[in-house]
Amino acid sequence: MKIKPIKTLANEIASLYTIPIPLLDIAEDEGISVIYDDYGTDTFDGITWYEPQLDTFYIHVNTERGNFRDSLKGRFTLAHELGHYFIDHHRHAMEKGLMQPHIHCYNPFGRNENWEIEREADEFAANLLMPSAQFLDDFRGQTLSGQLIRSVSEKYKVSFSACAIRYMRLNFVPVMLVYSQNGKVKWQMRSPDFPFHRLRYGVGKVPENTVMGDYFYQGDSSCCNQDEIVYAGDCFQTYRVEQNKLEFLEYCIGYKNNTFSVLWEK
Ligand SMILES: [Zn+2]
Repeated sequence: MKIKPIKTLANEIASLYTIPIPLLDIAEDEGISVIYDDYGTDTFDGITWYEPQLDTFYIHVNTERGNFRDSLKGRFTLAHELGHYFIDHHRHAMEKGLMQPHIHCYNPFGRNENWEIEREADEFAANLLMPSAQFLDDFRGQTLSGQLIRSVSEKYKVSFSACAIRYMRLNFVPVMLVYSQNGKVKWQMRSPDFPFHRLRYGVGKVPENTVMGDYFYQGDSSCCNQDEIVYAGDCFQTYRVEQNKLEFLEYCIGYKNNTFSVLWEK
């Protein structure tokens, strides 16, 4: 039997509901019990658990870590846990007791590198929350802007970063996404067609003449939350001198000691 791709599975389930995807309705329709409770701060965001005596799945969601019914984080956590239920080999492993009720710790900027099953559940969550066909329609024929990503993220009730990552994966306008903490680049992702591979200092310090640079070096957030012109030579390791003056746009959001930037060619 051919295994259905995760994105197809998630999109099919999403097609039975309306946007924003009502995750608790999905759980209810599947007979899954979802319990929101305070499970402490240094624990987990969500856990899916199978109880063989009752032949029932339980999803525990940790409110102490900001996972509420209507919070963006809580929604992503629940969608991720639903992935463990809907993806056949995850569910079978739980039913057979082969997969421990496992701990999902949410990465605020949507990257979960540790385990294959975590990546699969994240892929499921992104496709369930932002079904491909509608999501494509929201961007088709529109000029990319940070505000456009923001408004689409609000429509689907997902975080800005989750929406930007989904946008990047669907390969419209080539973008680079950069998440930084305390002035250091924690990770960057890019579309295959993005013209440059690396930031100016690689994954070291944040480049100075950028919006994220202003945020960390000057403590200045006045250029955040708007499309700002930046130059290729300031942002990236360019391949030829004449590329340095190429204009790019940066849309940066800052929160405490974190920034998340989307960069694309003007
Ligand atoms: Zn998980």
